[in-house]
Amino acid sequence: MTTPLNPKRTVAELKELRSLTSDENGAQRVAFTPTWVKARDWLREKLRSLPVESHIDAAGNSWTTLAGESERALLIGGHIDSVPNGGWLDGCLNLLAGLEILRRVNAEYGGKPPVTVRLVDWADEEGARFGKSLFGSSACSGNLNMDEARVLTDKQGIRLPDALKSVGVDFERVKESGRELKNAGAYIELHIEQGPVLLDLELPLGAVLGTFGVERHAITFHGQAAHSGSTPMNRRKDAFLAAAKISQEIYRIAERSKGGVCTIGSCTTKPGIVTSVVEECRITLDQRHLDAAALARMLQEAKAASERFAKEGNVGVSWERLWQIEPVLFNPDLIAFCSEAITETCGKTHRLPSGPLHDAAEVARAGIPTVMTFVQSLHGISHNKIEDTKEEHLELCVAAFDKLADKAMKWVEG
Ligand SMILES: [Zn+2]
Repeated sequence: MTTPLNPKRTVAELKELRSLTSDENGAQRVAFTPTWVKARDWLREKLRSLPVESHIDAAGNSWTTLAGESERALLIGGHIDSVPNGGWLDGCLNLLAGLEILRRVNAEYGGKPPVTVRLVDWADEEGARFGKSLFGSSACSGNLNMDEARVLTDKQGIRLPDALKSVGVDFERVKESGRELKNAGAYIELHIEQGPVLLDLELPLGAVLGTFGVERHAITFHGQAAHSGSTPMNRRKDAFLAAAKISQEIYRIAERSKGGVCTIGSCTTKPGIVTSVVEECRITLDQRHLDAAALARMLQEAKAASERFAKEGNVGVSWERLWQIEPVLFNPDLIAFCSEAITETCGKTHRLPSGPLHDAAEVARAGIPTVMTFVQSLHGISHNKIEDTKEEHLELCVAAFDKLADKAMKWVEG
């Protein structure tokens, strides 16, 4: 007999987890803390009723496997960790929807589906304690920079390797986690959108095309300090003026890029006093786009504009790259299945890029065909206790994600 999928149970379990691991300020499931361990124990207890194998891998990721006729596997991922004072859905919705899918698949195939289905709870997705997000998934994908990670410390001065040791993980061996991907045929992840796009379109669900590439730079304009009373306007070398012109230009650059975003997030001036023309002005520019060529063009246009404005104002300009990551595109077949699953569930779908990075990006970078489903976020907000999604949308997302799992299993089976 087939037990139908029960999305209402997922909503009830989300509330149960919230009451167990939140306080009046929100979710407190910060990775490697006792509350996080408690949340994991709770999930393991839920999984116990299924004929599954569970273990923690070399990077602290928790894997639960429902073995199928074939070792080829569909992976379903999420993260039970939260930021401090976090929301009740970020990360754990993915896992609890995955749990419901495991129940459905187990019932439908009498404990032996045609392909293996595995649920993974990635360790420390948020990076709340050590400032390095996607820890477990980047160790698994092989992209974790060991030299950078080895010296990370939290606010108490505890080093990441020591924090890992306390939960039984040997830092120097975390990349052995990569062997978990051996038989992976596809990876799917459900997540709250954490932005306002679906909300503004009045759509509950969307298929995610990939995650934005990012170019992050510091731009410094070099002028000359001069007395604000004695220096005529036409004699100034005003470093701030050039920066101010660029702040307007980035809106035009983003507009032309069709789909990209640009942010000037900080601006510091020297000498920074009320009676002096600005000698030096340093701004930071963050540019993001799903298309690598478009991202490169946005950067090129910003550089050209900075030089033009510097020349106009008789000041110098220099650039310094702070950080960069290439766009990660999800698998076209899986994107199509995801759109189909959403349309079958609620009649309408939308395809959108993800601004934030997710564990799914790391899995995709490891070469595993990947897709994500987004569900609408109310207020377009997360990492905050006000993070919320309508219950009817939560139920829809579990139903659509289950349909995606079904299609992906058939695809993996080949
Ligand atoms: Zn998340």
